[in-house]
Amino acid sequence: MRQKFTVESVLECPNLPGLPTVAMEVISLTREEDVNLREVASRVELDPALTARVLRTVNSAYFGLGKPVASIQRGIGYMGFNALVSLILGFSLVDMTRRRQDHFDFVGFWRRSTTAAATARRIAMRIADRIPEHHELTDEAFAAGLLQDIGMLPLQAADPERFRNAEQLAGNDHRVLSGYEREAFGFDHATVGAALARRWRLPESIIESIAHHHDGKSTDHPFVSRISFLASEIASAMLGPNINQELERAARLADGLFNIDEDQFRVLIQEVTSDAEEVARFFDVEQVDLQRVVQEAEQTAMQLQIDNRRREKQLEEQRDALVEEMSVDGLTGIYNRRFFDDQLHERFEQARRFRGTLGLLMIDVDHFKSINDDHGHPVGDLVLKECAARMGQIMRRDDVLCRYGGEEFVVLLPGASKREIATVAERLRIRVEDEPFLLTLGDQAPIAVTISVGGALASPDQDSTEPCDLLHAADGALYQAKREGRNQSCFVVANRIRQQDAA
Ligand code: GH3
Ligand code: MG
Ligand code: MG
Repeated sequence: MRQKFTVESVLECPNLPGLPTVAMEVISLTREEDVNLREVASRVELDPALTARVLRTVNSAYFGLGKPVASIQRGIGYMGFNALVSLILGFSLVDMTRRRQDHFDFVGFWRRSTTAAATARRIAMRIADRIPEHHELTDEAFAAGLLQDIGMLPLQAADPERFRNAEQLAGNDHRVLSGYEREAFGFDHATVGAALARRWRLPESIIESIAHHHDGKSTDHPFVSRISFLASEIASAMLGPNINQELERAARLADGLFNIDEDQFRVLIQEVTSDAEEVARFFDVEQVDLQRVVQEAEQTAMQLQIDNRRREKQLEEQRDALVEEMSVDGLTGIYNRRFFDDQLHERFEQARRFRGTLGLLMIDVDHFKSINDDHGHPVGDLVLKECAARMGQIMRRDDVLCRYGGEEFVVLLPGASKREIATVAERLRIRVEDEPFLLTLGDQAPIAVTISVGGALASPDQDSTEPCDLLHAADGALYQAKREGRNQSCFVVANRIRQQDAA
């Protein structure tokens, strides 16, 4: 049967070594109402190795004291009891855990704790001036960050196998570890950590911040616990599997909790990457090169962006090509009927909006059926191609030449006047008639080709004409050109067809 655990049973576990006496005594001394600075200092100084480590740390660039201090008492004066207690606890715990043989992930644990401590301290420095009543916020934050995962130690000591299993399920992602711990033990490292901190008689704010480092929801000590929460999220992001995604999430959290904007967040991460290395060094823990990790992540994000943009551009080009393909007539290479229908409506609306005109030419090859009959269908095709090519030469920039179907073509002439429409119509007609078609199919003799053109003009803002009226008018003009003997152009002004006319 699986063993049942309670928080108490986990803390009573014989495999969990107790804190060294010096740490216990220092903590208890600093808990007294009237903390006696000298007494605390002399207790620490009874342990020369510890004293040396504390002084080395306090004098490091990280704590940035003005001038070096040579005594613990001066050191405490500068950095406060909280920082001292967290350092002493940190040193003791590192030593304690370094000696453990039971597959404890020593490096991973301390990497995370030192990163969280460095992060928490930087967050506190950033917001300290907004909460002036919190004199020791940065020290408290450092301690809260360093000790936030302390509950993992008793869990691991109580049942190494079970804990390793939970860790493996969480993979490299600390954010989901608590869930697997609750499944395995019935509670998570935040709960056990807080209980342990209570036993050690750590300050209430630290206990609360450990309990809430995965939700930030302490009501009694909101600042420290929110800082610890954000530090936990940032450390998880930097040391976890999806750094870019998780850092983005952490940035939103930073903004939501402390109004730390995107630029400030970027600076914060920069600061943390170098601080975390230094804090790890205090505890003789090997840190990952966070600076490189973050830099590489940024590069990946940038490359991803470039790739995305390239892919988007490709898609756009493909779309454009498709639209082009859908708009072009296969035989002649000019625009097709579908494109013409779109353009007719679009240009018509433009003319209406800007009080302009729209000209339309309808062109039909004369006796084309006989060309097909006399020379064969393939030659008929070449005639259509040549017609399109010749007419294309006449077009101006805004003119739109399309194949309407069969041997019929249309031209849209935006902004054209009556006279211009008539002129273009004649130029097209003459360009086709002028030179007989010399086609490159077999030993084809030149073919005389002519066209008839019907032109019409609409001024959409002046009367209530519609695109269909313009089409109808041009068609009528073309019919007239045909009737009057072909190879000529006619012109009309489009009018709204009244219901009875249309009927
Ligand atoms: P009109 O002067 O009155 O316009 O006489 P037409 O012979 O040109 O007119 P009709 O509409 O009687 O004949 C048009 C012919 O065009 C009939 C059709 O087979 C031919 N045609 C339509 N599309 C194509 C094509 O893509 N290629 C070829 N070669 N012929 C086509
Ligand atoms: Mg026809
Ligand atoms: Mg014809």
